[in-house]
Amino acid sequence: MTTTPSPSPSAARSAPADDAFDFDLFVIGAGSGGVRAARTAAQRGVRVAVAEAAALGGTCVNLGCIPKKLYSYAAGYAEAFEEARGFGWRVEAPVFDWEALKAGRAKEISRLNGIYGQLLLGAGVTVLEGWAQICGPHEVMVGTQRYRARHILIACGGTPFVPDFAGREFVITSDEMFDLPAFPRRLLVVGGGYIACEFASIFNGLGAEVTQVQRSGGLLSGFDQDVRHFIASEMGKAGVDIRLNAQVAVVSREDDGSLLVTLGDGRQVAADTVLYATGRIANTAGLGIENVGLKTTDKGAIVVDAHYRTSVPSIHAIGDVSSRLQLTPVALGEAMALVDRLFGDRKRTVDYDCVPTAVFTHPNIGTVGDTEAEAREKYEEVEIFRADFRALRHTLSGRDERSLVKLVVDKASDRVVGLHVVGADAGEIVQGFAVALRAGATKALFDSTIGIHPTLAEELVTLRTPVPKDD
Ligand code: FAD
Ligand code: NDP
Repeated sequence: MTTTPSPSPSAARSAPADDAFDFDLFVIGAGSGGVRAARTAAQRGVRVAVAEAAALGGTCVNLGCIPKKLYSYAAGYAEAFEEARGFGWRVEAPVFDWEALKAGRAKEISRLNGIYGQLLLGAGVTVLEGWAQICGPHEVMVGTQRYRARHILIACGGTPFVPDFAGREFVITSDEMFDLPAFPRRLLVVGGGYIACEFASIFNGLGAEVTQVQRSGGLLSGFDQDVRHFIASEMGKAGVDIRLNAQVAVVSREDDGSLLVTLGDGRQVAADTVLYATGRIANTAGLGIENVGLKTTDKGAIVVDAHYRTSVPSIHAIGDVSSRLQLTPVALGEAMALVDRLFGDRKRTVDYDCVPTAVFTHPNIGTVGDTEAEAREKYEEVEIFRADFRALRHTLSGRDERSLVKLVVDKASDRVVGLHVVGADAGEIVQGFAVALRAGATKALFDSTIGIHPTLAEELVTLRTPVPKDD
């Protein structure tokens, strides 16, 4: 189906003879980056089409950030019910209804799909439903219809990567987790990254027995070492059975329909569902990149320069498909910078320094800037300030959850170059501090800032004594 405000593609094609193009910008993929690029370009008065093969909004809205966070809230209620008694509430044993959660999520997502459609139409974007294939430097096919565009933007996102092993056909990815027909009583999660940790936490909170299998010696490679240890300990205390330095050898289906996972060391784990969260790769299969000889990395990501130009000058790529930082706000920032370059005053750029990020584990992780290890590589002398404590809430909650705050400081300039939090709403806390780090805030400035009491965040402005060097 095609939803055209005006002009329609055919009307656009019959535009003046000096304009051989149907559109100034043809966007492939209506996810985070694609929708933002299409909408902002159309608002600048250029002719824009966007093709989408699935639901408007892409991964973030349909199978990522939004449904994940809704399920994370659902898991949070389990903690709240458990804690309520300590605060004087007498609650009956609560019952979790998986069908009700799925239905609530589906309703909200379809509301969002509608809003995305309205935003695009309202901006004057032609929305084409279907798979798009690049046929030439200025040509895209959607179904049997061929379109000519001055610029083509690839915003096709990513797709889960699952390695080969015996029994691969029995496992699923995060794409299928949100709508599982039956709630998995026993869930085995493979991977130690964002998705594996978040889903392990969420399903543990919702009541599943969760085993998490990670091939290397720690969760969340690339995060600060203290954060990695701390979250593994907190998730373990909350009930996730974390197996490090472990690999899946075989997954087999038992007679009763359940799955049996055999690990490399011969140990076996029974599960109802096995989730593979072992990274995401660029979604370029069937896109036709070979028709124009687009350069890709050895992992299949589209190679772009600092201005999101691919190896073909009229074709651009942003977001997960070019595999820089696979985060929604990064895709949005890239979309706006690209549109500004193609159709605007070329003032907007994306600064990849100090991109804050959160992992919605229970408790949450929020982080911005350098890890301690990165800072030690970059600066001659680094000071670490760290506190690990029980938040006020847990004095009565009956839970023994702890929180961590950590600052990494370049001693020579006194600048805070890394800030890491594990605790309730860590993402909310770190967003504001990210501005301070980008502004070059010093430790002295942190120290002179009055705290907000009693909060977890105040700990970040009250850390006074550096961790001894050999700690
Ligand atoms: P996408 O949003 O993936 O959109 C690509 C779109 O292109 C899709 O709709 C796809 O159907 C369409 N498409 C692909 N090929 C074609 C074609 N040939 N023709 C037509 N249409 C096509 N990021 C965060 O910042 N915070 C989070 O909390 C977070 N949680 C996540 C949780 C999960 C489980 C996952 C999987 C991801 C999460 N992310 C999160 C990452 C975030 O979703 C992505 O970084 C973001 O969606 C990337 O946007 P994009 O525009 O590059 O691609
Ligand atoms: P990640 O790259 O974060 O993690 C992949 C994990 O899989 C790592 O633990 C890795 O191990 C492991 N792994 C990779 N290959 C194999 C293999 N062959 N066998 C066994 N284990 C393997 O990817 P995710 O899939 O978790 O998420 C993809 C991206 O989506 C994230 O990087 C993030 O950018 C984005 N995202 C963001 C979220 C947020 O902002 N809150 C939430 C969810 C996703 P090792 O550590 O040893 O390399």
